[in-house]
Amino acid sequence: VPDSADAVLEGLDPEQRAVATALRGPVCVLAGAGTGKTRAITHRIAYGVRAGMLQPASVLAVTFTARAAGEMRGRLRQLGAGGVQARTFHSAALRQLQYFWPRAIGGEMPRLLERKVQLVAEAGARSRIRLDRNELRDVTGEIEWCKVTQTVPEDYPAVAAKTGRDVPRDPAEIARIYTTYEQLKRDRGVIDFEDVLLLTVGVLQDRPDVADTVRSQYQHFVVDEYQDVSPLQQRLLELWLGGRDDLCVVGDASQTIYSFTGATPDFLLGFRARYPSATVVKLVRDYRSTPQVVGLANGLLAQARGQAAAHRLELVSQRESGPEPAYAEYADEPAEAEGAARRIRQLIDSGVRPSEIAVLYRINAQSEVYEQALADAGVPYQLRGAERFFERPEVREAGLLLRGAARASADPEDTATVPEQVRAVLSSRGWASEPPAGSGAVRDRWESLAALVRLSEDFAAARADATLGDFVAELDERANAQHAPTVEGVTLASLHAAKGLEWDAVFVVGLTEGTLPITFAKTDEQIEEERRLLYVGVTRARLHLGLSWALSRSPGGRGGRRPSRFLDGLRPGSAPRGARGAGGGAGGVERGSGGRRKRGPVLCRVCGRTLSDAGEIKLMRCEDCPSDLDEALYDRLRVWRTAQAKALGQPAY
Ligand code: ATP
Ligand code: MG
Repeated sequence: VPDSADAVLEGLDPEQRAVATALRGPVCVLAGAGTGKTRAITHRIAYGVRAGMLQPASVLAVTFTARAAGEMRGRLRQLGAGGVQARTFHSAALRQLQYFWPRAIGGEMPRLLERKVQLVAEAGARSRIRLDRNELRDVTGEIEWCKVTQTVPEDYPAVAAKTGRDVPRDPAEIARIYTTYEQLKRDRGVIDFEDVLLLTVGVLQDRPDVADTVRSQYQHFVVDEYQDVSPLQQRLLELWLGGRDDLCVVGDASQTIYSFTGATPDFLLGFRARYPSATVVKLVRDYRSTPQVVGLANGLLAQARGQAAAHRLELVSQRESGPEPAYAEYADEPAEAEGAARRIRQLIDSGVRPSEIAVLYRINAQSEVYEQALADAGVPYQLRGAERFFERPEVREAGLLLRGAARASADPEDTATVPEQVRAVLSSRGWASEPPAGSGAVRDRWESLAALVRLSEDFAAARADATLGDFVAELDERANAQHAPTVEGVTLASLHAAKGLEWDAVFVVGLTEGTLPITFAKTDEQIEEERRLLYVGVTRARLHLGLSWALSRSPGGRGGRRPSRFLDGLRPGSAPRGARGAGGGAGGVERGSGGRRKRGPVLCRVCGRTLSDAGEIKLMRCEDCPSDLDEALYDRLRVWRTAQAKALGQPAY
């Protein structure tokens, strides 16, 4: 912990200090990836708190993901400024809504809908519209889009036509499903993810007394990743501010990657027009990546077009020279995945920690082949998107039991260790220290609780003097941030989920036409967003960067895919596309063999058992394992199995 407010400023460059010491808004920081925007706002809050200028409880910091919020809170604690609220828009709204619901609306707040896709399917069936699996997912996406853009069902067909949306079904049918879906939610007394923001905005708008209470609590607002704020989130921010301007926003227009959900960089780019007195700071020093990575990122930006590109900022690396980005072409996707797994194995063997490595892809469906390849190579991995651990019933129940035990053991007799107490509480409810035989729900339940025990062990190792009560408080905090216990492994994540994060080694994979840019990106603006996604991916790397693609999908496939247009003029041996010159990438293209490869066993994606029956292999699950699990659940199960394998010293599945 720095010993004074001024010490908090150490480790910031002059421009970052200007941000940190401008303690009254409006402040706007426009800067490229890795220039320390997140660091600058975190230190700004800590400096303000340490200097006695900001009351911790009066600050609301908004980040894009729960993980980023958790990281910010951790960093603030290290800087001696605990107690600041760092949340996503969603979690901040949810808390306020829960608190104000009885007073503003009456009664208990409805439950949050957990299985949205299922309810949309039911709404489809009731509207007598048959949807296949893909249509169901896409229609659900359209309903979400409608809600964040505040489009009511009646207006959807016209709005979809006007904005040129790629509609999965007849817009009139989607509007009918949307109407029925809303009706079903009302009948069941549940609200969905999007309703949380909509209802909070509604309450703050209609109830000045509630708005006043919120405004008297929060006086200083800080928003990270402001280029991806949606109109609805912006509205919420304005309601929180209530005409005040103590607001600090940071963002990078070149990293706008959520326009498909209604987000827009307009609020970032129009900040100065909105607040003529704003302090505007630009940062250009890139502290994250080597000159080689930065060169490639600048090369990508040089080719960008459109509104965001007009505001690009060339990055200047502050780091020592490192390896050139490695480009690799493979015959097929399994060979590409195997190539990445081989490189990752080498990196780990040379001392890079698995948690410092990431594989990033355009769509989640690409993860499967990488999971298999990493499993074959004995490399532990984790999928991002496993955040909902604390919502599992057994974990919730365990939390209640531990809370009760913490209250009962409040007398300072501080004899059994925290993990011992946790084990004792869980065993009193029949939890065995050894895993049950077999797989399925019983095993999953055991694994969740085992993860909780491990969490208590990590917690006790970090804080020897901690009590069970401290651990329960930690669980609450994590549950709020929807944090899964850390699993030491290579991260597999979509480019969208990688936002704001960084790793020593990053592999951006699947760089072919049709995947990045993705087939459904058709308009120039959509293509530019795909390019920005690649920019986000590339700038996640501190040191090692691998870029790869495969000429066909499966072994023996007909090939014919070509590398992403975004690499034209950047990868060696490619001609530049478009008029503008391109800097960046040297290094050679490595050609993967794509020859005979050993495929690992096919595992049931529900229970992880090795499959031998041809029918089961096709399904990728045992006949008796449930088939109606949603994708998020599959992800969750994989993560827990990986964690479990690691705990037992076995190679990951
Ligand atoms: P992104 O746009 O990807 O979110 P960012 O601008 O928020 O990036 P940070 O994540 O804050 O960048 O910083 C990138 C990395 O550089 C971090 O590891 C951070 O600790 C480091 N860094 C930032 N500023 C400095 C500095 N002045 N000195 C040393 N390291 C720094
Ligand atoms: Mg950041």
